[in-house]
Amino acid sequence: MGPQARLSPLPGERLDAQRPDQELTRSWGHRSESALDRAKAMALPLPLAASTPLLHGEFGSYPVRGPRFALTLTPQALHIQRLRPKPEARPRGGLVPLSEVSGCCTLRSHSSSDSAAYFCIYTYPRGRRGSRRRATRTFCADGAATYEENRTEAQRWATALTCLLRGQLLPTDGEITPELLPRPPRLLLLVNPFGGRGLAWQWCKNHVLPMISEAGLSFNLIQTERHNHARELVQGLSLSEWDSIITVSGDGLLYEVLNGLLERPDWEEAVKMPVGILPCGSGNALAGAVNQHGGFEPALGVDLLLNCSLLLCRGGSRPLDLLSVTLASGSRCFSFLSVAWGFVSDVDIQSERFRALGSARFTLGTVLGLATLHTYRGRLSYLPATMEASSPTPAHGLPRAKSELTLAPAPAPAPAVAHSPLHRSVSDLPLPLPQSALTSPGSPELPNLLLNGGGPELAGDWGGAGDTPLSPDPLLPSPPGSPKAAILSPISKGAPEMPSSSGLPSSKPNATVAVSTRGPADHLLPPLGTALPPGWVTMEGDFVLILAISPSHLGADLVAAPHARFDDGLVHLCWVRGGISRAALLRLFLAMEHGSHLSLDCPQLGYTAARAFRLEPLTSRGVLTVDGEQVEYGPLQAQMHPGLGTLLTGPPGWPGQDP
Ligand code: ADP
Ligand code: MG
Repeated sequence: MGPQARLSPLPGERLDAQRPDQELTRSWGHRSESALDRAKAMALPLPLAASTPLLHGEFGSYPVRGPRFALTLTPQALHIQRLRPKPEARPRGGLVPLSEVSGCCTLRSHSSSDSAAYFCIYTYPRGRRGSRRRATRTFCADGAATYEENRTEAQRWATALTCLLRGQLLPTDGEITPELLPRPPRLLLLVNPFGGRGLAWQWCKNHVLPMISEAGLSFNLIQTERHNHARELVQGLSLSEWDSIITVSGDGLLYEVLNGLLERPDWEEAVKMPVGILPCGSGNALAGAVNQHGGFEPALGVDLLLNCSLLLCRGGSRPLDLLSVTLASGSRCFSFLSVAWGFVSDVDIQSERFRALGSARFTLGTVLGLATLHTYRGRLSYLPATMEASSPTPAHGLPRAKSELTLAPAPAPAPAVAHSPLHRSVSDLPLPLPQSALTSPGSPELPNLLLNGGGPELAGDWGGAGDTPLSPDPLLPSPPGSPKAAILSPISKGAPEMPSSSGLPSSKPNATVAVSTRGPADHLLPPLGTALPPGWVTMEGDFVLILAISPSHLGADLVAAPHARFDDGLVHLCWVRGGISRAALLRLFLAMEHGSHLSLDCPQLGYTAARAFRLEPLTSRGVLTVDGEQVEYGPLQAQMHPGLGTLLTGPPGWPGQDP
């Protein structure tokens, strides 16, 4: 293949005036601090009220002709009001919150005599039983005499809606045209086909890829072939080719990606690459936290996946705290989730054999763990959050300020509201297995073959029911830079490590936690085995469990540190001392589903927020995990690095968003 066509450079940035919230996130594609600095120097326009009407207009309907609707677009919702035959007394589906919209497009009729243009939105409302179902709504712009004028109107709506979804500024004066839209964000999706119950690929194909296409995002997809494949892959990645790396699996695959980024010579820049997680594993703790941050009700399975995919399509990122964990051998790894010893790590590792149950493996593991409850003697020392570092280094010492300006790319002539089938690519990625790579449509240099009859069922939704079926509006400019295959540096080959007969990765300690000299220095920690500086607190005794957690969730439905934030700069230490009854421990875990365990007044339960800690097991045998991955057993210590990474969270939700 010839040289890669370069994409246009990152456009300039604008400030987001539309977000209804005060907790600002950065929107798609902005990683440069200089952009942030420049934006800070600009005046910040006040956010518009959530109900401010931005567009209002009358549309016909499709495929049934006859009813007419008044549409009103606000920063938070599309309001649909039937005008004819008569206004509905109790309108059904009259309010479409943007939090349930993946994307939109414009269409035209196959009949050349039809001068109407069509505006179609993809929505994922919750059904009666609470689970989400995909639904499309198509409206007919027919107010003008010519197709061109109607198309301009349909494009105006599609552009405005896409801008709102992606957190872009709408001009208060001037035209809303597709040129306002920046080029589509480019995602690298990494899928672990053995994640969870082995359904990750199927869920990705059936739910994630259609939604990402609807959102007009550009992607390449690679299925991992072995443990640590993703870790090696991101080490050789040309990061400037991507706007984010998304893992489609459980927490383990993201752990690989973050550690791979931090093992690069350019780790400082690399770790800022926005990462996202789409939950298809059995342990989906971070996704549970993202789901809650996005304002959705707690969810599991496909519902959690759809929620997180909706958030991902919106873009928006926050700094992500990363915990540097040094093990007894001196090796170091980075954790975004948890360090666990005792009951939690025992359940995590011992329930690997019930992987076929998906997340229910932890429930079964908990029941079995309660039956054979152990206590472990150990010592826990920590630097309380309220203490200043004993030898602070200003660059790393304190949590980053919470306020992050919202940035968005400035207009670039590259709208991506057109929608076309997914294609399987006989990829030009220099990867061992071409079958494991997939790329989104439009790439001229990739030979295209239809994937199982196409992606988001175009004909069925757009034209199946009508007598003049619709097709993507051919006059909408197609995204020039999307999608493209990345040039990936060669990755080490070696015989693919096959999962064990049960499809499980080995539950042996992770032998590949290599000594890393890269990543930020742990200035709060003296060497393991040496005395701790003043200001640290130490306690020794028998513990049922010790858990250090960074975000709020320990599992998709386990809220271990309810008040934790992705970027609070804190490691939340929870411990349960020996002497607790099985019933009381079970009550703690049941309460943790709602994050109310801390108010149970359980005398054996302890909690504190810290900046660093040291854990010294005094029991010779046991299991230690970092982010659910087993590591070598022995003393370890860890320091929080506030906001070291960047997590794609989507926009933050607001109370009552997900009734
Ligand atoms: P789950 O939540 O289901 O455990 P994870 O994302 O945590 O899913 O992945 C479990 C383990 O599988 C991780 O250790 C990860 O590194 C490993 N892994 C990733 N890709 C593969 C693969 N293709 N084959 C086997 N193991 C893999
Ligand atoms: Mg896991």
